[in-house]
Amino acid sequence: MDISTPVSKLFSTTKAHLNRLHSLGVDSLGDLINYFPRTYNDQSEMVHICDIRTDRVNTLSGTISQIVELKSRFGKKLLKAKFTDDTGSVDVIWFNQPFLKKLLYNGQKLILSGKAKFELGKVTLVSPEYEPLQQKQLHTARLVPVYHETEGLSSKWLREKIHPLLKTVPRLFPEYLPDEIIKQHSLIPYAEAIVETHFPADPKKLEQAKFRLAFDELFLLQLKALQAKWHWQQSSTGQSKKIPLHQETQKLQQKLPFTLTNAQQVALTEILSDLNREFPMSRLLQGDVGSGKTIVAGLAIYNVLLNGYQAALMAPTEILAEQHFHSLSRLFEGRGLLLALITGSTPITEKKKLQEHLANGKLHLAIGTHALIQEQISFQNLGLAVVDEQHRFGVEQRSLLKTHGTPHLLSLSATPIPRTLAMTIYGDQDLSIIDEMPKGRLPIVTRIVPENKRHDAYLWIEDRVKSGRQAFVICPLIDESDTLELKSVLSEYDRLQNEIFPHLKIGLLHGRMKATEKDEIMSKFKANEIQILVSTSVIEVGIDIPNATIMMIEGAERFGLSQLHQFRGRVGRGEHQSYCFLFMQNESDTAKQRLRAMVSHNSGFKLSEIDLEMRGPGQLLGIRQSGIPDLKMASLSDSKTIALARDAANYIINKDPQLTEFPKLREKISQLQKIYLND
Ligand code: ADP
Ligand code: MG
Repeated sequence: MDISTPVSKLFSTTKAHLNRLHSLGVDSLGDLINYFPRTYNDQSEMVHICDIRTDRVNTLSGTISQIVELKSRFGKKLLKAKFTDDTGSVDVIWFNQPFLKKLLYNGQKLILSGKAKFELGKVTLVSPEYEPLQQKQLHTARLVPVYHETEGLSSKWLREKIHPLLKTVPRLFPEYLPDEIIKQHSLIPYAEAIVETHFPADPKKLEQAKFRLAFDELFLLQLKALQAKWHWQQSSTGQSKKIPLHQETQKLQQKLPFTLTNAQQVALTEILSDLNREFPMSRLLQGDVGSGKTIVAGLAIYNVLLNGYQAALMAPTEILAEQHFHSLSRLFEGRGLLLALITGSTPITEKKKLQEHLANGKLHLAIGTHALIQEQISFQNLGLAVVDEQHRFGVEQRSLLKTHGTPHLLSLSATPIPRTLAMTIYGDQDLSIIDEMPKGRLPIVTRIVPENKRHDAYLWIEDRVKSGRQAFVICPLIDESDTLELKSVLSEYDRLQNEIFPHLKIGLLHGRMKATEKDEIMSKFKANEIQILVSTSVIEVGIDIPNATIMMIEGAERFGLSQLHQFRGRVGRGEHQSYCFLFMQNESDTAKQRLRAMVSHNSGFKLSEIDLEMRGPGQLLGIRQSGIPDLKMASLSDSKTIALARDAANYIINKDPQLTEFPKLREKISQLQKIYLND
């Protein structure tokens, strides 16, 4: 037996159960052992029957007798019995568990754990957990692990399956952390941590076990990142294209219609000084939507071009690539700099010509989508590669850009996460954060609109549009290949154009339109020839239309908060007050509670924190896109453990960056690949 042994070989169970386990991501012994409890029920305090209380869970040890099966008034089966210990007796009742009759017998010694009710002068235990008295209790009389369940797969079942397998843990999960790290952080052994996390002896042990596992995750993640950074610097030292600050760059900055915010200025300075070092820059520029990352990148690109090098700018969508192409063309006007736009829809002959001119250096800046790395594009002298909305690209894709003769690499990200967290996830890059919005921006007013106010909202929007503003309507089409959902977007567009706003010009944008069609729609919207743009989430990133002041989102509960925040960032970019209206398809309380965070917070940092807390890391769309790893035990908001783990990782990398002394650690790191969702 090893960690890859399939679950089906571990115990006999039904196909249905195996499928359920699979849906929880559990296929092998290793998966099952790593399927940690969600929480614990503390049933470790045993009480006597004379001390039963109705305001808590009572865990009792005693003997069962007088078991009878009855029918309730509504025909439901129930089981009644008496339960006795040295201090007295109590009635017990179980509803709807007919199988119990076969499991329990008079005179049996049991542990029961459950709530009690007091009625007609009598105390009754109601549907308690039960477990035969044995040397080691699994389900009662301890800290009882509670697992994430799925239909038909209970915690109790999981406890029974996992417990006997834990004896394999010391052999299959040997210690791999260096002694000095274990000592310095007073960590308990790895195998012990796993066992104690499933069936903790006491709260203290549980805490130590959870800390150990969380520490491990954060440590490995950061070790891997720091190692990647070391490799990058190692392999490229001396090959850097040292690019000094050009006077004209400062002049261009002075000619901008606005002054950079402090945070923008700091970031720009960091980037410009990176460009002039002996190893290539690998920097992440992080800033909330609308914080003005493009101009910072634009000035850096300008500086590179003026020094006689080429640059490349890669964006996740054609719309965005085109927008960058137009705004940078305008910014660099009059300097004789030649820009190329290369996307999936650039005609082949045209593309061939552009490729030729990039290779021989006639073109200076290539702006495009994935096409930039998919096609066989080569540069004569690439000095800087910029990746916009980097979370939309995989690590591999980004590193492809690095292969063009080790250019400087700058990534931009609008996923606002705290610094410690960003350092954990993107630890292989240096970090600049723009944590300040350009002055004079009015906060966007956000409202959750109930269905019965929909009509009023439409009237209000019409009024605004007639006074010159524009609006977005976002419809949830999570999977652009989903035909049914696409239909509903199309019919929503139809309804808005023909029934609601017949006198206004409505446009439609979705992922399955041709790039040229999308381009046409977007330029019409920019020119205010379209007043209301109905769109799927393709609109999400980067689009800049200052005159659009209304963002209306349908089925808002289906999006993550970070993603909603991205949508909202499409408005509020100009001088006019902007609004964001959230409509729900399903007005459940939890969804409403989550959306209320959108109303009360304007900071993307805060919202991503709440998203993490409420929906858990990993699984959710908004977070998934940001490349946050799906950690099992560690919390990405636990900055204390993150910092401890980073110290430890730094210590190891400084001592032995290639981990030659630590083969077990090296192996563990190589298995870690999977943890990056974007890989
Ligand atoms: P993002 O960081 O989301 O990519 P953009 O770079 O698209 O944001 O900038 C949003 C808008 O803010 C653009 O219209 C840009 O011209 C403008 N902008 C950028 N920096 C400033 C500034 N310092 N003052 C005023 N407006 C700015
Ligand atoms: Mg942007």
